[in-house]
Amino acid sequence: MGHVHKPHHVWKVPTPFASHAFHPVDGFLQSLPYHIYPFVFPLHKVVYLGLYILVNIWTISIHDGDFRVPRILRPFINGSAHHTDHHMFFDYNYGQYFTLWDRIGGSFKNPSSFEGKGPLSYVKKMEEQKWSSHVGNGCGSERGATGEAAKTE
Ligand SMILES: [Zn+2]
Ligand SMILES: [Zn+2]
Repeated sequence: MGHVHKPHHVWKVPTPFASHAFHPVDGFLQSLPYHIYPFVFPLHKVVYLGLYILVNIWTISIHDGDFRVPRILRPFINGSAHHTDHHMFFDYNYGQYFTLWDRIGGSFKNPSSFEGKGPLSYVKKMEEQKWSSHVGNGCGSERGATGEAAKTE
């Protein structure tokens, strides 16, 4: 299973596109519970399709780099921040929706971005350093974020 799941981890910092980039066998195996479920607990086909759409939206959302989770839900929800750490470190935060089973199984990791050490905070820090060193070195060609030359008369 680990081998066939590796291609999904080509993206260390996932994007929404990574959410559906799986080895075909991996994708099939991960969808099996959803296909078996209606045989055990029958449900209306429209409900099934609605849930199918919601699963896909959720899967995209945990790959989209938007780490916000309401503070009160942070301990319970496996969000984008958790799943980004799953992509970077592989052995943590296997959950899809909740942190419960990772906590029980010992694979829970508090997301590094919640501690200010995530990939996006790293990029932000680099941008700030680049900006401040550029402004500070007095090279006289300060440009705004748009690349437009600053208007200094
Ligand atoms: Zn993923
Ligand atoms: Zn994975």
